[in-house]
Amino acid sequence: MDEPRERPAQGAMGGTTDREAMLAPRYAEIATFMRAPRVRDPRELDIALIGVPFDGGVTNRPGARHGPREIRNASTLMRAIHHVTKVDPYELCRVGDMGDVAFPRIYELEACLDDIAEFYGRVHAAGAVPLSAGGDHAITLPIFRAIAAERPLGMVHIDAHTDTWDEFLGSRYMHGTPFRRAVEEGLLDPKRTIQIGIRGAQNSDEGWTFSLESGMRVVFMEEFTELGVAAVIAEARRVVGDGPTYISFDVDGLDPVYAPGTGTPEVGGLTTIEAQALLRGLRGLDLVGGDVVEVAPPFDPSGNTALVGATMMYEILCLLAEAVAKRRSS
Ligand code: MN
Ligand code: MN
Repeated sequence: MDEPRERPAQGAMGGTTDREAMLAPRYAEIATFMRAPRVRDPRELDIALIGVPFDGGVTNRPGARHGPREIRNASTLMRAIHHVTKVDPYELCRVGDMGDVAFPRIYELEACLDDIAEFYGRVHAAGAVPLSAGGDHAITLPIFRAIAAERPLGMVHIDAHTDTWDEFLGSRYMHGTPFRRAVEEGLLDPKRTIQIGIRGAQNSDEGWTFSLESGMRVVFMEEFTELGVAAVIAEARRVVGDGPTYISFDVDGLDPVYAPGTGTPEVGGLTTIEAQALLRGLRGLDLVGGDVVEVAPPFDPSGNTALVGATMMYEILCLLAEAVAKRRSS
C-alpha cells in the first residue's frame, strides 16, 4: 500500500528528510530520485542524490546519458522502510535530490570530468555524502577526485569489467579506465579494492593484469558462482576493512536477462537477488559514497533496467544512511 506516512518534524533524530514530496501520488509531479525533496544546497543534506547525464566516455553503444531521467522515473516506485534490514534512510538522514550535473562544455570530455569534479567538490565540502546515477563509468573518476582528495578510498566494485584499461583510441579518460587513473592519482587504494562479477572475453589482458598486479581482489564470475554470495561478502569485508569505502555498481555486472539496457552487456552475470544480498552484506562498513552507472534507456524498452538501477540505488541509500548515522553518533 502507498498511504503516505506521517511527516516527521524536520531536524528530529539529528536530521530527517522532509517527506512532503513523498505525499503526492507516485505518478504525479516532477520525478525526483526516490521522490525525495529537490534540494539545491548540499549543506541542507546528509545524502545528496545526484544525476550525471554523461556518456561521452563510452567505447561502443551510447545512451547512459538518459540514465538519470529514467532512473528518477522508475525510482518513484521505491518506498521507505527496507523489508530485510528495516532501515528507513529518510528517518536516519536528510536525503534530497540535487538535480543533475550541468555540462556547459559537453563536447570536451576532460572538461566534462572537471565539471563533475567541481560539482562533487561542493557536495563534499558541505559534508554531504553523494549517491549518483550515471552516466557511463567515466564519471566515477571525477567523483573520486572530489571526495578522495584527502585520503585514498577502498571500493566494492560490481561490474563485468575491471575498468582498469590504460587507454582507448588514444584517450586516457573513458569508461574503461577510471579505476586505473584513480589508482595512479592516489585516490583509490588497490589493496582495499574488490571487483566482483568480472567476465567476458577481451582483446587485451591489460585491464585484468593491472587490477591483479596493483593488488586488487578480482572475483571473476566463475569464482563468484563457486563461492556463493555469503563467502564473497566476507571477502569484500576483509578486503575493504574499516577504512572509508565507496560502492560503484555498474549495471552490466548483472546478467543482461535482468539488465539488458546497458551499453556493454555480458552474459553470465549476477542475478538481481544476488546483487541485493551482496549489497545488504556491506552493512556497517564506513561507506562514503556510491553510484549506479551504465543504465542506458535506449536499450531498455521494457524499462526494467531503470527499475533495477533505481532499486540498487535504494539498497545503497540504506547502507549510506546507516553509515552516516553511525559516524554522527561516534
Ligand atoms: Mn564499468
Ligand atoms: Mn561494465
